[in-house]
Amino acid sequence: MVREILIYPDKRLQILSEEVKAFDATLHTLLDDMYETMIARKGVGLAAIQIGIPQRVLIINLPHDEDGTQPKENTLEVINPLFLVEEGTTTYQEGCLSLPNIYEDVKRFKYVKVEYQDRYGNKQMVESDDFLAIALQHEIEHLNGHVFIENLSFIKRKKFEKEWRKKYKL
Ligand SMILES: [Zn+2]
Repeated sequence: MVREILIYPDKRLQILSEEVKAFDATLHTLLDDMYETMIARKGVGLAAIQIGIPQRVLIINLPHDEDGTQPKENTLEVINPLFLVEEGTTTYQEGCLSLPNIYEDVKRFKYVKVEYQDRYGNKQMVESDDFLAIALQHEIEHLNGHVFIENLSFIKRKKFEKEWRKKYKL
């Protein structure tokens, strides 16, 4: 089921998401719904809090290079993630389904190694020094109640907030 995505500055996006303890049918439905929602909005990643569920759950599905498809079996389902290693720096232009049509350069670690649990509660490990590393950092930030534009410089952030208020008539 496609669920509604919270749009910045919805206060719920600031909630610190809680650790998942039950790896049950409710969690599996949440993960399946997150996939459908992300695909419907043409995203590459989604955190549960973006559909209003404050649990430490995120998904990432990077489109195939050749045809841009995002089959469900390629979805990385990450529950209760923990950074084991963060190294180097890189800058990448990021976007977010909670901030439609906003793309800004953000400084991130170049390489990350993350321990997490899969939908059955099994411990897994993922590492990347590529776009996946950026996506992991972006989504884990959501679990901690933050969005990517909070990483912008003071001046850039001010400019963004002004444009955003105008656009959404806040
Ligand atoms: Zn996001």
